[in-house]
Amino acid sequence: MVKPNRSLATQRALVLRGCLDRLVARVARPLIQCQIVQQQVISFVTETHVPIPKELLDILVCPVCKAPVKLLADGSGLKCGACRRVYPVRDGIPVMLPEEATIAPE
Ligand SMILES: [Zn+2]
Repeated sequence: MVKPNRSLATQRALVLRGCLDRLVARVARPLIQCQIVQQQVISFVTETHVPIPKELLDILVCPVCKAPVKLLADGSGLKCGACRRVYPVRDGIPVMLPEEATIAPE
């Protein structure tokens, strides 16, 4: 009676595999596609959008004193004209957080 048990186990395994395949098709593949899109967006932002678009610079202000910020010559940060805080630019994305900012000497 070992053989029928095995075939039952095999049938169950096949049903389970069918369920898993459907699950993969419905959940995992969109997730993978989502990751690919995310990677494309990141590479687009980091490779194509450095320096930061002017439209974005125009609306960015210092979160502490609400004064406009200017992009540093080397593109590494955004400097507030009023309080001299320099907000870092990481992977082409400005980090407008006071705790991440450094104070420029002059
Ligand atoms: Zn400021």
